[in-house]
Amino acid sequence: MSDFSPAPGLRPWQRTAAGAGLLADDGSIAATIFAEMSALAQRTGAINLGQGFPDEDGPAEVLEAARQAIADGVNQYPPGIGSPVLREAIAEHQARWYGLDVDAASEVLVTAGATEALAAAILAHVDTGDEVVTFEPSYDAYAALIARAGGVHRTVPLRFPDWHVDLDELEAAVTDRTRMILVNSPHNPTGTVLGDEVLERIVDLAVRHDALIVTDEVYEHLTFGTAHRPIATIPGARERTITISSGGKTFSTTGWKIGWLTAPADLVTSVLAVKQYLTYVNGAPFQPAVATGLGLPDAVFTDAAAALRGKRDVLAAGLEAAGFTVSLPDAGYFIVADAAPLGYDDGAALCRELPDRAGVVGVPVSAFVHADRQHAVRSLVRFAFCKRRDVLEEASSRLARLGSGSR
Ligand code: PMP
Ligand code: GLN
Repeated sequence: MSDFSPAPGLRPWQRTAAGAGLLADDGSIAATIFAEMSALAQRTGAINLGQGFPDEDGPAEVLEAARQAIADGVNQYPPGIGSPVLREAIAEHQARWYGLDVDAASEVLVTAGATEALAAAILAHVDTGDEVVTFEPSYDAYAALIARAGGVHRTVPLRFPDWHVDLDELEAAVTDRTRMILVNSPHNPTGTVLGDEVLERIVDLAVRHDALIVTDEVYEHLTFGTAHRPIATIPGARERTITISSGGKTFSTTGWKIGWLTAPADLVTSVLAVKQYLTYVNGAPFQPAVATGLGLPDAVFTDAAAALRGKRDVLAAGLEAAGFTVSLPDAGYFIVADAAPLGYDDGAALCRELPDRAGVVGVPVSAFVHADRQHAVRSLVRFAFCKRRDVLEEASSRLARLGSGSR
């Protein structure tokens, strides 16, 4: 089930990535779980609570700024490190929200979404055999990019339903072989916001084993009461940390793919060395528009989070009423729900049947877990709540059929 055609002439190195889920058994490119599930929703007309993208526009000022930039002729290549106005806005944002002192000229790099920042950071710093530690489940791109770089992916489990971090397991995973600790907080798919104790331990381990910290903070503003703290604010972290974010989630512009990283100048340079031959640059008129967004008043950010929290509660209530056990997220776009109480022990199978059974699409949490360890999350499904309330209410009433319907 893929919306990509088989790729002609695959090279041997591409085949080696099969373990990272990049290739299907028949040699065709396996679509990401998000593309696959969005295609399924489109084909069946089901409500798409799979891929995380909002169905409403973000701040009007941001959209207008992009229109204006196009009208003003901001349509050619911006500088390789990003438009000055956006780099300034990113540096100001880090100072305003987190008290981080970032030099806009040398410590900011604009990228094609957070995805390119992740890719370039990993390709720049992970060599064959280097270990990269992440929590698991983890965002699907991590395993794929680590494999592409020739790295070894070590994971620390987060367990349903509270996703508690076992500090002993974390400590055991980080060794002198660890090149990078790749953190994601707020976390996709669990909605966990890592607390100070965990962040401090990560920094302590990174210092002890001389590892880089790469932190993916794309959901930084979408928190529901638990404050997000960038790991770069922990003493000892800043000089070894690449902090990644994106305008996609914060301004509901996921299709614009304007991301960035902030890091000490030497790390920016090493990542730029890779990035300049990936995309070189992207999204000229969207860069000043995202800068406009980053400069909007605090209330724009906090109101968006509050609205999303209300949506979370609508979907959580719907899933519970339908018979799922729900883990209520502290942040982000997603709820992880256990289908086992409904008698479904295979979340991937359920997700393929869900459009027919209930007219809804979700994503199996197994897609975020290495093949050998999927049993731990087998019955779990991720549902996106970054949708209009009426859509979430309709999805809830459809999901209620699961408990009553025949199987
Ligand atoms: N990291 C995480 C944790 C995500 O959920 C996503 C998906 N939006 C990304 C990175 C990719 O972000 P972007 O669209 O800016 O590339
Ligand atoms: N980050 C989005 C999600 O988790 C998907 C982005 C993508 O399709 N690559 O649903």
